[in-house]
Amino acid sequence: MKSAYVKSVYDTVVQRNPGENEFHQAVHEVLDSLDPVIAAHPEFEKTALLERLIEPERQIIFRVPWVDDSGKVQVNRGYRVQFNSALGPYKGGLRFHPSVNRGIIKFLGFEQIFKNALTGLGIGGGKGGSDFDPHGKSDNEVMRFCQAFMSELHNHIGEYTDVPAGDIGVGGREIGYLFGMYRRLEGRYEAGVLTGKGVGWGGSKGRTEATGYGLVMFTQRMLEQIGQGFEGQRVVVSGSGNVAIYAIEKAQELGAKVVACSDSSGFIVDEAGIDLELLKQVKEVQRERLTAYAAARPGSVYRTRDEGSIWDVPCSIALPSATQNELSLENAESLIKNGVVAVAEGANMPCEPEAIEAFERADVLFGPGKAANAGGVATSALEMEQNASREQWSFMHTTSRLEKIMHDIHDDCYETAAQYGRSGDYVFGANVAGFMKVSKAMIAQGVI
Ligand code: GLU
Repeated sequence: MKSAYVKSVYDTVVQRNPGENEFHQAVHEVLDSLDPVIAAHPEFEKTALLERLIEPERQIIFRVPWVDDSGKVQVNRGYRVQFNSALGPYKGGLRFHPSVNRGIIKFLGFEQIFKNALTGLGIGGGKGGSDFDPHGKSDNEVMRFCQAFMSELHNHIGEYTDVPAGDIGVGGREIGYLFGMYRRLEGRYEAGVLTGKGVGWGGSKGRTEATGYGLVMFTQRMLEQIGQGFEGQRVVVSGSGNVAIYAIEKAQELGAKVVACSDSSGFIVDEAGIDLELLKQVKEVQRERLTAYAAARPGSVYRTRDEGSIWDVPCSIALPSATQNELSLENAESLIKNGVVAVAEGANMPCEPEAIEAFERADVLFGPGKAANAGGVATSALEMEQNASREQWSFMHTTSRLEKIMHDIHDDCYETAAQYGRSGDYVFGANVAGFMKVSKAMIAQGVI
């Protein structure tokens, strides 16, 4: 970050948003790419474009009181940050996790602006969630929480306003309860208000698989640049939620062997290759931990976080798909030592900045989340398209649209980086390509 203007904007972010470290980190990563762009476009400084970009258009924080199964009243905090609507209605997931706070939601919302811009599908950026922890809650408790959450959120969303979806802790079950409450409160069937709905009541085929599949499609395209593919590769995918499961499925389909995945307590190593049906059974049906996988699968081993790191498992491709800042410099060095060829982010901001620098120094292909994991939100936009036209596309049609979108995002990032003499730098390419789309729209629409 060399430009005085860019630096001063970053200083303002830190000063105005004390303690929101993840938000500072996400802003830093984008601003860090912008020096050459700012130099070429004096109108950005004149119209305070960066100052506007880093300030959310609207932030909503609300109380969510609900009654647990024992009859006790619980109070959680709800958030929706409507960050930028220059390209379309705010779009982005809801995260239910105890770690959620304003800084986390703002970092996610900020990333979402550029990710959504990269899809080219006319969606703005937003994010929301709550510090509610769905783990260990009964279905009824989850339902009551979702209803309480929606009893406030419904005032702020709509198919042309803001369209939430899932993220960590919010899957098909939660979207169902949220949609039901919205429908009841508004008294109409507004299918396009949420995405990630069930197929059969407005959901899109292929949405469940989209983030993981898209991640592998993007990585495949990166690998093609160096004359490789997934065939015969040894892959480690962290996480075992929706993104990880479908990344594993697609990587296996393309002929790779996926040998490890993780949850918040530890990880499994399965040298025979992960048994996907068992993994789905454990995680999606039983909502169990990975220890249940290890118990049911002879030959696999489970290690707790204290016993080691998933990033010490040797692999040629690593797909961090758990959560932010899960991969440190030390982890990156271990992956590099073990011969990793490509790393792509299935989660949002899973690699710490020093880890990304290490991959770049070692010439490891690196796909940043805002490009590599855009397949989920892209398919959400396709769901909105189907809702608006009252159509239901086939699985094949949706996934082939997804594949084209992921390839286009790849090529856009690749070509943008090359234009600025930064060939192969996908971080730079994604930041600049996403930023240019949003900033052009903001300039055209005046000081808003
Ligand atoms: N939460 C996902 C993301 O991080 C998907 C958002 C959506 O489909 O709106 O992009």
